[in-house]
Amino acid sequence: MSIFILFCEANVSSYYQASATKSGPYPQLQGSHQADICIVGAGFTGLSSALHLSELGYKVIVLEAETVGHGASGRNGGHVGTGQRRDQQYLEDRFGHDIASALWSMSLEAVDTVKHLVEKHRIKCDLKHGNVHFAHKARYSRDMEKEVAFLNDRYGFDQMEYIGKDRLPDVIGSHAYHCAVMDTASKHLHPLKFVHGLAEAAVKAGVVICEQSPVTSYAGTPVVVKTDQGQVTAAELVLACNAYIEKLEPKINGYIMPINNFVLATEPLSDELAREIIPLDTSMADSRFVINYWKLSADNRLLFGGGENYRRGFPSDIKGFVQQYMLQVYPQLADSKIDYGWGGRVAITMNRLPHFGRLQDNIWYMQGYSGHGVPTATFAGKLIAEAVSGKLERFDLMADLPTAKFPGGTLLRWPGMVAGMLYYALRDRF
Ligand SMILES: Cc1cc2nc3c(=O)[nH]c(=O)nc-3n(C[C@H](O)[C@H](O)[C@H](O)COP(=O)(O)OP(=O)(O)OC[C@H]3O[C@@H](n4cnc5c(N)ncnc54)[C@H](O)[C@@H]3O)c2cc1C
Repeated sequence: MSIFILFCEANVSSYYQASATKSGPYPQLQGSHQADICIVGAGFTGLSSALHLSELGYKVIVLEAETVGHGASGRNGGHVGTGQRRDQQYLEDRFGHDIASALWSMSLEAVDTVKHLVEKHRIKCDLKHGNVHFAHKARYSRDMEKEVAFLNDRYGFDQMEYIGKDRLPDVIGSHAYHCAVMDTASKHLHPLKFVHGLAEAAVKAGVVICEQSPVTSYAGTPVVVKTDQGQVTAAELVLACNAYIEKLEPKINGYIMPINNFVLATEPLSDELAREIIPLDTSMADSRFVINYWKLSADNRLLFGGGENYRRGFPSDIKGFVQQYMLQVYPQLADSKIDYGWGGRVAITMNRLPHFGRLQDNIWYMQGYSGHGVPTATFAGKLIAEAVSGKLERFDLMADLPTAKFPGGTLLRWPGMVAGMLYYALRDRF
């Protein structure tokens, strides 16, 4: 990881940073320690894994290079969506009904897991209900109607409703869209509050968290995990580094591609304006390849995610960069001040399905949630706890999903992928 990227990310101000009550700080790893399980990375994957494993009686140490929630988990849109990142029809066509159905059930369980953790550990993270997905092209209307009918007929899912153009004013104060799907089972939250709540719950359950402790290498069985200042010897290792894994493990790094994605927060809006733009206080997203996603914060700011780049480093003016997308949806916000702009790294896979697996019997990894990690990464923690304690079935189902390496390896994946992503981004406009 270049020093430049660390510098940029550390200095980008985020609404989440400004509004979260944080757990910690946690000490740096010093000296030699023993654990049953060592986890690298303190985002949703690492902390949910730590919590679930600790509740089963394992002694867990989490090593985080920066601070809790420094990665995507503390920077994202906070949407907790049902379904996998790929739609059910795709999953049925690709894997057949049994696997598609298991993936669907797990996706609902993932959303419930977030809700359950919030309730059980009393995490104050502004959890709310409902998501609306908008079509930015008229020709997508039929597909959206079909999707709702398909989920209803095939899966008995009745919490999704098609909303035609005439009813759009009920759900949005914008003329940018042609129709929508409302999903009342999806949720949304303040992600940095959630990740710190997980950290606090994990510590209460006996987990040791170390911040400012970048792992530099690991080897052997039991595995010895090293940082500059110390080491942990553990029976099992969980790599939960997602888009930030960089050089730590080249064997899995090649299966994901890090993409920078950006978010802004406006000044607090009046109640009237907030209800005009998002009447039902749902989270929202659209059908663009470079997706726009947005919601209100607890203090009525519009949190709007839009735009991405495929190079190292963030744009110098993130607020202005994202504002152009926001104004396409909400021109009425032209005079609203933008208080914060920040970015984070999403790890995508070639087919946008998560990448789970084992490098050897005792070294596990979960990554590549492709922009759907709030529920899926949190749920990954539940699956790894099942797997380590001998119930491998559901972890293996995820691990058996095919994932291809990006062509060109870690060095040359960029030029090819960038060309592809730019092509699809351009298609959004026509
Ligand atoms: C801007 C943005 C918006 C998004 N919006 C949404 C959304 O609305 N809904 C949704 O479902 N998903 C969304 N996502 C995706 C979601 O945030 C991620 O999938 C999820 O947070 C991944 O969690 P994680 O714990 O696997 O990874 P991360 O949260 O990235 O955590 C990885 C951690 O590992 C640490 N680490 C890396 N290497 C080392 C090392 N060598 N030693 C020690 N520590 C290390 C990093 O510092 C980091 O803290 C978004 C992502 C971004 C960036």
